[in-house]
Amino acid sequence: MAKIDKNIIDKVLETAKIEEVVKDCLGSYDSGNKGGLKKTGVRYEALCPFHDDKSLGSFVVYPKGNCYKCFSCGAGGGVVDFLMKHEGLTYPDAIRWLGKKYNIPVDDMSVDWTYTPRPVPPPLPMLELPAAMVEKTMKAIDHDNLVKWMRLGVNWDTVQRYNLEKALFDYRVGHGKNGHTIFWQCDENDKVRTGKMMLYREDGHRDKVSKWNFDFIHSSLSRKRNEDDPWPFPSIFDPDKQEPHLCFFGMHLLNRFPNAAIKIVESEKTAVLMATAYGNHTMQIWMACGGLEMITRERLQPLIDQKRRIILYPDRDGIEKWKVKAEQMHYDRLAIDTEPVTKWWKPEDGEKADIADVVVRMLNTSKPLTNIHDVAEQMPQVKPLIDKLNLEIQDE
Ligand SMILES: [Zn+2]
Repeated sequence: MAKIDKNIIDKVLETAKIEEVVKDCLGSYDSGNKGGLKKTGVRYEALCPFHDDKSLGSFVVYPKGNCYKCFSCGAGGGVVDFLMKHEGLTYPDAIRWLGKKYNIPVDDMSVDWTYTPRPVPPPLPMLELPAAMVEKTMKAIDHDNLVKWMRLGVNWDTVQRYNLEKALFDYRVGHGKNGHTIFWQCDENDKVRTGKMMLYREDGHRDKVSKWNFDFIHSSLSRKRNEDDPWPFPSIFDPDKQEPHLCFFGMHLLNRFPNAAIKIVESEKTAVLMATAYGNHTMQIWMACGGLEMITRERLQPLIDQKRRIILYPDRDGIEKWKVKAEQMHYDRLAIDTEPVTKWWKPEDGEKADIADVVVRMLNTSKPLTNIHDVAEQMPQVKPLIDKLNLEIQDE
């Protein structure tokens, strides 16, 4: 087997720069590549190539530590780790790749090597945002496009109408001046970690066209106009001293309801809708993971420590992938429920439907039971009783 001199390896590792290697692999944002590497101050951001990333803010490249880290899926490491993972190279081939890039002749010599993954620098203290920031955003509720739809677009009953306002409050949903919704992420100890600002349309669907239709709060707090500018809000978030931490939406409810089962859906909107439809945190807490890559053993740990029952509710088009993930978690109190998006599902819900799409359709198409005729039609089991009692349908 071909072997490479240890000294050559050291030379390659000393020379290789993470930002240059990642740029070679992902392209550059400035040259029009939307997912490419973008300089933000002393670090870089990109769309994470290791999960289905749709927004900047998770994947960060640190020239200082010569490493990268994704705060969503947990991927991270040094130059060689990145190349092995991204390009599918073996360790010696990654060294050869770098040798070629940096003009270091990598001769195959008979000295042994072992691959030791480069450690990501020790994590910085987790970012904690002020609670007052959350409270402030909860006031503009009537401007929120999603709330408008949630209030008017769904055929809730009286109890559910009450549940909706309670859910918006319990989940601490924030609202922007221009119709935005802010889904704050507070952890199990009630610390505000970050938030997702999203723009919905008044029909309840995402607005993916307008500018600023998505942003992580930690990203927006650390965005500089010019590279040499100081961090814009150093007293709230100084990226050199703190690092972001993403958690499940609804996690702060965990310790308030010690006996509840945990039901995990993908989107925050779905969690709020389900808490509204079946609102009782004592029995069940609906949480949103924000994407399959966010479901990791590490993030589930607070739930596992408390031996909570966990039920995953995948979208219809994600069933197989979620099943694989559920297996990987190796937790015997975790189950996956696909019934709402299979048995309850109807074609008009769409191939990508999630549990809330199905439930909202059911609510919006069910007729209120106003007379005996409706009762007989919707509840066939009472038909014999109606016949037996000889009840008649009368016109008003
Ligand atoms: Zn990632």
